[in-house]
Amino acid sequence: MNKAARKRILVTGGAGFVGSHLCDRLVSAGNDVVCVDNFYTGDKRNIAHLLTESNFELIRHDVTFPLYLEVDQIYNLACPASPVHYQYDPVQTTKTSVHGAINMLGLAKRTGARILQASTSEVYGDPEIHPQPEHYWGKVNPVGVRSCYDEGKRCAETLFFDYWRQHRLEIKVARIFNTYGPRMHPDDGRVVSNFIVQALRQESLTIFGDGSQTRSFCYVDDLVEGLIRLMESRTDFTGPVNLGNPGEFSMLELATQVIQQTGSSSVTEFKTLPEDDPQQRRPDIELARNELSWEPTIPLADGLARTIDYFRSIL
Ligand code: NAD
Ligand code: UDP
Repeated sequence: MNKAARKRILVTGGAGFVGSHLCDRLVSAGNDVVCVDNFYTGDKRNIAHLLTESNFELIRHDVTFPLYLEVDQIYNLACPASPVHYQYDPVQTTKTSVHGAINMLGLAKRTGARILQASTSEVYGDPEIHPQPEHYWGKVNPVGVRSCYDEGKRCAETLFFDYWRQHRLEIKVARIFNTYGPRMHPDDGRVVSNFIVQALRQESLTIFGDGSQTRSFCYVDDLVEGLIRLMESRTDFTGPVNLGNPGEFSMLELATQVIQQTGSSSVTEFKTLPEDDPQQRRPDIELARNELSWEPTIPLADGLARTIDYFRSIL
C-alpha cells in the first residue's frame, strides 16, 4: 500500500476475540494499527504474533480515561461481551460503554477521524419482533442483571448519534449478533466456546433453561469483513446496521451439533436459565446486503469445525 493510502487506525479492545482478528486484517492490508486494551477479557497471546510487525503498536490503556493519539479511523470494540464477564463488575461495564464512547468520540472530534461503534443485538433485549430489523426499538429491562451491558450499549449508540447530529462526526454503528470463532477464551462463558470446551473435555454440556431459546451464530471472519465494509461505506451511511448470520439454532440443536462434530461422548445437563435471557434472536440483514453488499459466507458447521480445531490445539 502506498503511503498516502495507508491509514492510521485505532482498534480499542484489539486484544480481545473480535478485535484481534480485526487487527490481523488491518495490519495485513498495510495500515498503521494501534491496538488499545486493558486486558480485562483480552489476552496478549491473541496479538503476540503482530508485535513484530512494524505497522502494529500495542498500548495498555483503559478507555474510561482519555486518550491522545493522531488517527484517521477508530474501531471502538472495548467492552467485555460475555454475560459472565460483563456482570462480574457491572459498574465498570457501563463506564466502559459510556465513558469509553465519550472519550473515543472526543478523540474522533479532535482528530476528524471516522469512528465505528461495536454495538450489539442486545439493544433489542428480549425481542417481540422476529427477525429483528434495525428500526425495532427493542424490549430491554433497564434495571436487570444484563442492563449494564444492554443499556450501556444503547447509551453509547445515543452518544454516537448526538455527536453526529451536533458535531457532524463521521459515525458508523454496527449491531453485532452472536459471533464465535478461534481466540475465544476457553473460560469466556459464551455458549459456543462453553459447549466446545465441555465436549472436548468429555464433560456434560450445560444447557441453560430447556434449551429452546435461539441464537444466530456468525463466524468471526464474516463479521470482520462486515465491520471493514461498514467503516469504508459512503460517508452519509451511519447505520445502525445489523451484522450477523441469519441461520437460527436452538441451544439444544447447537449442543447436538457440537457433540456430533467433536465426536464426544458428552451428554447434556440442564441448568437454571439466567435472568432476562432472551428467548429468540435472529438478524434481519437486508440493510447490510443493500448498503454493504455483505452477507455471511461461512455456515455454522464449517465455522464450528474451525473453532473446534482451534480449541483442540490449545486445550
Ligand atoms: P472480548 O471480551 O473478547 O473483547 C473485548 C476486549 O475489550 C478485551 O480485549 C478487553 O480486555 C477489552 N476491554 C474491556 N474493557 C476495556 C476498557 N475499559 N478499556 C480497554 N479495553 C477494554 O469480546 P468480543 O467478543 O471480542 O467483543 C468485542 C466487541 O464486540 C465488544 O464491544 C462487544 O460488546 C461487541 N460484540 C461482540 C459480540 C460477539 O458475539 N462476539 C456480539 C455483540 C457485540
Ligand atoms: N447458554 C447455555 N449454556 C452455556 C452458556 C450459555 O445454554 O453454557 C445459553 C444462554 O442461556 C443463552 C445462549 O446460550 O440463551 C447464548 O448465551 P451467550 O452467553 O453465548 O450469549 P447471549 O446470551 O449474550 O446471546
